[in-house]
This record gives sequence, structure tokens and C-alpha cells, in this order.
Amino acid sequence: MDLGLTGKTVVVTGGSSGIGLATVKLALAEGANVAFCARGADRLNRVRDDLAAAYGEARLLAKAFSVLEPEANTVFAQEVCARFGGCDALITNAGQGRVSTFADTSDTDWRDELELKIFSQLHPIRAFQDQLRASGTGSVTAVNSLLAYQPEPHMVCTSAARAGVQNLLKSLATELAPDIRVNSILIGLVDSQQWQRRFEARPDQSQSREAWFRDLAIKKNIPLQRLGHAAEAARALLFLSSPAASYVTGAKLELSGGVSRFI
Ligand code: NDP
Repeated sequence: MDLGLTGKTVVVTGGSSGIGLATVKLALAEGANVAFCARGADRLNRVRDDLAAAYGEARLLAKAFSVLEPEANTVFAQEVCARFGGCDALITNAGQGRVSTFADTSDTDWRDELELKIFSQLHPIRAFQDQLRASGTGSVTAVNSLLAYQPEPHMVCTSAARAGVQNLLKSLATELAPDIRVNSILIGLVDSQQWQRRFEARPDQSQSREAWFRDLAIKKNIPLQRLGHAAEAARALLFLSSPAASYVTGAKLELSGGVSRFI
């Protein structure tokens, strides 16, 4: 299926690793112009150089900043517009989860997590909304989590914040219609830098990567018996953000290997 992304401009927040990086690569392979950001300049620039070697400089823009800085999002949007003439698809992916229970989550932790989850949506969407409205095929596609519907006590504030994000996206799908479609994917467990960090901190350092990830999938009762790949999340994200999904808005797509227990 042709996603219709050739010549379109796709913006990915958190594009230097994991799901974001896989999405950047796939969008380039689909013929889109791609702009992406992350906080860490070293990794971002390394990734940018590798991508430039594979796909050429002309369709690439990378900028180091935190999506939690409103002004930096605005400047980024201006640079995207100057370089590519506008933005057609915004993929809000930047972030990470917080592992903590109610007992060990302080008020500061709660505020930090709520700020990360809510403002990592609001700031980029505000910055790009005029360009998305002008696109004719504008879309926002958010990376969210199954935790929004299926909270985990050991990720108490991430779960609550994810539910808030899902609620926010539903409102935006109405308020930004008909010009901008707004959808999300709900991730279960996808093998990325976040899980690599947990693997590296495993108690039994003799356990192989393959064995550790296989045990994790068994422990989590994932029907497809493995974690997802970042490239699988990227395919779902690009479909929802593309003209191929032109009648889809206010929707969510699970990417969980079947691990959800809600209907
Ligand atoms: P990775 O850690 O591999 O990638 C996260 C990316 O986001 C990096 O490029 C990181 O770069 C960037 N980033 C983080 N915070 C910011 C920020 N404030 N501003 C700009 N960029 C930022 O993680 P994943 O690919 O796993 O995660 C992608 C998204 O998916 C996240 O929102 C995560 O919470 C969500 N998710 C992932 C799950 C999984 O199983 N993998 C499960 C549920 C949700 P840098 O650190 O340099 O800023």
C-alpha cells in the first residue's frame, strides 16, 4: 500500500533512539522530508550523520532541544517551515516511563511525570498546529501506552498521566477537526533503549539478552510471546499519520502483541 508520504514533511519528537528513530528511518524510506529532535546532542548528531549517509542531507533536519521548552518548539517549527515549507504529520513520541509505586512517588515526581506526559504533547502540537492546518492532510499521531487503559501499580504516575494524555487527544481530535486528524498508538512492550537499560541492570549479569527478553515476554503473558520491534511501532505510526488513514481520527491502535485485557 502506498502511504502517500512522498514529498510530505514528517516531524518526529524523540527521534534519536528506539521507536522514534525507527519512525524517522521509515519515513525517509517512504520518501518524506523528516525533522526530528531529542535532548542529547551527541547521539542526535551521530544518528543524523548516519541517516545523511544513507538517505542524503536534503530531506533531513535534526535539532537538539527538550520538547518541554515551549520556545524551543516554536523555533524548531519555524526552522522546519523555512526548510521544507511546512509540516504535514507530527509524531509526538519523546519521553520515557517512570517506575514507582504510590508509596515511593513524591509530589515532585508526580509533577515531573505529569509535566512530561502532558506538555510533550501540548508544546509540539501548539508549535506545529498552523502548519498542520495548512497542510491539507495534517495529522498528529501520539505514542501512548496501554497503561492509559490498564494501569500498573508499579508505574502509578505514568499510568495516570497516560490516561490523561489519551483523554486530551480525544478532545483535540474534535477541536482540531476537520483540518488535523489526531490519533494514538498504545504500546505494550517494545524493545528499545528503555528496555536495553533495564536489561543492562539485570540482577543475573550472566543471562543473555535473548534469554532475558524471552523471560520478560513469558512473565508479562504476551500472547505473541515476544516484545515488539521498534520498526513495528513505526509502521503503525506512519500509517496513522499518512494520507492512507484519511478517515481515521480520535482513534487508538494497540501495538501490544495482544497483552491488553480490556475490550
Ligand atoms: P527510547 O529511550 O529508546 O527513546 C526515547 C527518545 O525520546 C530518545 O530519542 C530521547 O532522546 C527522546 N527524549 C526523551 N525525552 C525527551 C524530551 N524531553 N525532549 C526531546 N526528546 C526527548 O524509548 P522508546 O523508543 O521506548 O520510547 C518512545 C516513546 O514510547 C516514549 O514516549 C515512551 O514512554 C513510549 N513507550 C515505550 C514503551 C516501550 O516498551 N518501549 C512502552 C510504553 C510507552 P534524549 O534522551 O537524548 O532526549
